[in-house]
Amino acid sequence: MVVDNPAPPSVRIWVATLTQADLRLRRWLDPREMGRFLSYESPADRARFLLGAAMLRSAVGQQVGMRPEDVPVDRECESCGAWHGRPRVPGSSLHLSVSHAGLLVAVAMATAGAVGIDVERIRSSPAAAESWTHHEARFKAGGGEDLLVHSLPLPWPGHLMAVAHPKNGTVKVSTSRQRLDLLER
Ligand SMILES: [Zn+2]
Repeated sequence: MVVDNPAPPSVRIWVATLTQADLRLRRWLDPREMGRFLSYESPADRARFLLGAAMLRSAVGQQVGMRPEDVPVDRECESCGAWHGRPRVPGSSLHLSVSHAGLLVAVAMATAGAVGIDVERIRSSPAAAESWTHHEARFKAGGGEDLLVHSLPLPWPGHLMAVAHPKNGTVKVSTSRQRLDLLER
């Protein structure tokens, strides 16, 4: 029997729900992330930011062999210098994208090439929401001509997700309704 030996996926995506935003994850945040966490007024906004930051640190930490709290995350905005820009890990070639909407937070990490992820709640028209997720995902991946943009199914009704990545990329999605194993390491 011939078994394909697939290359590891170049894009990995993790999706979690706000019920997984355990406040103990705050200990992974660096001081500037903590400042941003505290700057949000609403508990839901705080939970979305906390969960996205923790998922990002968990993903990168696994990839580079660091504890999540030790991962250096640069969030300087390229336009204005504030700490709300696209997250980067200095010294690594990883490309990262974070999106949240409604109950969901999604993090995408590409080991080769650019990636953009977008989740949206369906408010009125599913077609309009889907078109918007494609637009956002493409924009977040840098908008190049060689991008493949497509929708990915979600086990949560009322939400849509799209990803943009180089055409030769492979994608693996991990979702969990119960927990994220964030606190187990
Ligand atoms: Zn800015």
